[in-house]
Parts: sequence; C-alpha cells; structure tokens
Amino acid sequence: MRGWDGFVDLVLGGRCAGCARPGVTLCGRCRRLLTGPTPFRAWPDPPPPGLAPPTAAAPYAGELRNLIVAHKEHARYGLARPLGGLLTDAVRVALEGRGAAWLCPVPSLRATVRQRGHDPLRRITDSAVRSLRRQGIHVRRADALQVVGRPDDQAGLSAERRTANLEGAFRLRSRWAETLSGQPVLLVDDVITTGSTLREACRALESGGIEVLGCALLAATARRHPSGS
Ligand SMILES: [Zn+2]
Repeated sequence: MRGWDGFVDLVLGGRCAGCARPGVTLCGRCRRLLTGPTPFRAWPDPPPPGLAPPTAAAPYAGELRNLIVAHKEHARYGLARPLGGLLTDAVRVALEGRGAAWLCPVPSLRATVRQRGHDPLRRITDSAVRSLRRQGIHVRRADALQVVGRPDDQAGLSAERRTANLEGAFRLRSRWAETLSGQPVLLVDDVITTGSTLREACRALESGGIEVLGCALLAATARRHPSGS
C-alpha cells in the first residue's frame, strides 16, 4: 500500500479527507476540529446491559466521519496521528485521573484487515499510546481479544451477513488472562452506535475474570431519545 496516499492525492487532485477542500490530506480547519472537542459519556439508547461506561471524543458526523472513513477504508495513513490524538483525549477522560492502563482494541476479522490492507484501529491505538506516554500516562496496547470464527454457522449467508454474524463474537486470548487480571483495562474502538459489539467485547474480557474500566471511542453516533428525555 506504499504510496497510496500519493496515489489518492493524484486521483482526487489533492483534497482534504475531511471537507474535500483542495490541498493537503488534512486542512487546518479540519485539524482544529480534531483538537477541539470535549469527550463525553456516550451511552447508547437503550444501553446494552453489561456495557462498560463509554467515553467518546466527538459526535460521529460531518468532517470527522469523513476522516475516520478515509483512514479506515481508503488507507489515508497520514490521518492515524491526528485521529490518535482524538483517541488520546477520550482515553484520558475515561481513565478519570489514573496514570496507567491497558488499551484493548476491538479486533476486526482477519479477512477484513486483509481486504483493507491495514488494521486502522490498531494504527490509531498505537498513535494514541505514543501520545499518552509522552503525557506521562503509562498505557500499553493489549491485543487480548480475537474474533471467534463460526464457520459452521456461515453457510448460506451473504458476505455482508457473514461479517455481521462474526463481528461481535470475541474470545479472550488465554495468555492475556493473567497479564490483565487486576489491571485497569479500557476497550477502544473507532465508533459506538448501538454498543452491542463493545458489550460483546466486555463480556469476553469479563468471562476471563478481567474487569473493564470503560470504553474509549473516537466518536459516537447521535443517540436517539424516543422518550424525548
Ligand atoms: Zn478539511
């Protein structure tokens, strides 16, 4: 995928991945959008039982949505660092003053990673880890979860349904159970919508005796409040 950013710039004539303004991959205005927001509690409505408290850096909308998609689906690797900065903010708030934690990214299907040519969440998490450590917060990445394949259940499903069927089913890698036991652990993901995937990830960790402190997200989709509250 080397040179992909350059290729995209060539094809698109060099445009900001957030607002499509001609120029660089991330214009000054969109860069400022990534450093401005205040992280907030992002409980889905209704909140799935068993979900650890979610903290999102920003609403999933507009330019930020474009930037997350450009990094994830169009391999605009240059966005990993600014998005990592955004995740840093969510992690700091989720840690509520603690000085150390393990960050456990919600894993993608291996086939999805292959198809995309990279693992966007891991890239962003690594960037956030570096930035947090520079700020004196001792965090490390824990690839403690794996997607559980259920090949027997997959027959007859479309590719899309197959992915949906697989995502949200996780297993704790056994070698991590001892390492993470009694340690502060945050789940990290890019976007929270219904929270069901994160809830499954919480379950997988907790089934191994690991307590999940919370979830740190880049962004949260707008929550609907049918009751008007
Ligand atoms: Zn822009």
